[in-house]
Amino acid sequence: MQKLRNWAGNYTYSAAELFEPERMEQLQEWVAAQHKVKALGSRHSFNSIADTSGGLISLGKMNRVLELDPSRGTVTVEGGIRYGELAGYLHANRYALHNLASLPHITIAGACATGTHGSGDRNGNLATVVRSVEMVTASGEAVVYTRGEQPEADGAIVNLGALGIVSKLTLDIVPSFDISQLVFESLPLSRLEGHIDDVFSSAYSVSLFTDWTGRRFTQVWLKQIASTDEAFVRDEFYGATRAAVPLHPVPGISAEPCSEQLGKRGPWHERLPHFRMAFTPSAGEELQSEYFVPRNHAYAALEAIFQLEEHIAPHLYISEVRSIAADQLWMSPNYGRDSIGIHFTWKPHSEAVERVLPLIEAALEPYEARPHWSKLFTMAPERVKSLYEKHRDFQNLAASCDPQGKFRNSFLDRYFK
Ligand SMILES: Cc1cc2nc3c(=O)[nH]c(=O)nc-3n(C[C@H](O)[C@H](O)[C@H](O)COP(=O)(O)OP(=O)(O)OC[C@H]3O[C@@H](n4cnc5c(N)ncnc54)[C@H](O)[C@@H]3O)c2cc1C
Repeated sequence: MQKLRNWAGNYTYSAAELFEPERMEQLQEWVAAQHKVKALGSRHSFNSIADTSGGLISLGKMNRVLELDPSRGTVTVEGGIRYGELAGYLHANRYALHNLASLPHITIAGACATGTHGSGDRNGNLATVVRSVEMVTASGEAVVYTRGEQPEADGAIVNLGALGIVSKLTLDIVPSFDISQLVFESLPLSRLEGHIDDVFSSAYSVSLFTDWTGRRFTQVWLKQIASTDEAFVRDEFYGATRAAVPLHPVPGISAEPCSEQLGKRGPWHERLPHFRMAFTPSAGEELQSEYFVPRNHAYAALEAIFQLEEHIAPHLYISEVRSIAADQLWMSPNYGRDSIGIHFTWKPHSEAVERVLPLIEAALEPYEARPHWSKLFTMAPERVKSLYEKHRDFQNLAASCDPQGKFRNSFLDRYFK
């Protein structure tokens, strides 16, 4: 088999085999028979988290919606489905998910495994609406973890692919809603001082973009719930001015791949992601990193990174700052704390990025920044471990689901040994 690469092309998986089951029994038999195995989602991670020295397994052919249950307020899906595939189905049935990431292309299982998030003060990351997961563990047996029924369920949802192959997920749903999106240009950093809470609570979802030059945010994206047909109009936002034409967050790129702006009302799944399903999201050939700091440290953390302008700017496409509500999922970067995510979309300058990341991590160290599990970071394993109260519990859970280390890889060995 030709070696597979991740979406960004910066990582080549070492696995020699890719298995694509169509049915649960095939999945169980194959997992039971392997010495080493790892689930691969849509390959949107930037590091080795999804790799294995054995065989990769893709659930791309197990991507159906299994059951919509309005009485319980849930939808149950197979482990290979992508957000973009589920969203249209839910919308057609007048339901929605509470939030989405910047792109709809990723699988639900892969996104929840790494604590993927969207934005919004009151919105937990995407894994927070997982009510239960079914996974195929090392023996090939299927086990189900349901929140509120087993305490370990809080460890099994943001699972880093360490516990087994997620074959089904049941998610909480809400009635469908509409969103209007407005973009503003040039928000001075100084206007955030003492107003972080005001800025991030000013819409359902708020994103600030910056290139870290000029002590300002180049764009602000506000996604507001639209309950009436009245257009979402606001000309000014903390000194930033409303954009008159649609914009891409990365300067110089056409806004065609972006979700609709200019305040026009539309369904949740066509506004919450920044990028549309039919287009390449983000910049394309790129690298990404992200760090989460507790909300109360947000301004100081942003100031600290603005000091690194000369190191960061030459290698950066764009950065994005979002807010995420606290949760109780053991390995979630938002565990126990309302967070601000500070994200970097880098040019494909791998070596330079490897040099800049330690500077960013040192600048953020006083603020207890946790790295995004599926993006690039260089933090020492001991430091990463110290940032998670439930690290030991998760390690024990992984050992009980996978005593022989079938799902382990070099990434997991680095942070969980
Ligand atoms: C352009 C772009 C935009 C992005 N935007 C955001 C964003 O807005 N917010 C954010 O937080 N992140 C974002 N990300 C990161 C992305 O959401 C995460 O990397 C996510 O984990 C990718 O999901 P995937 O389906 O590609 O999983 P993969 O990268 O294929 O795998 C990730 C992990 O999930 C595990 N996994 C996958 N499927 C299963 C399964 N069925 N059972 C068990 N484990 C499984 C893998 O083993 C691996 O450990 C972005 C990435 C890109 C490339």
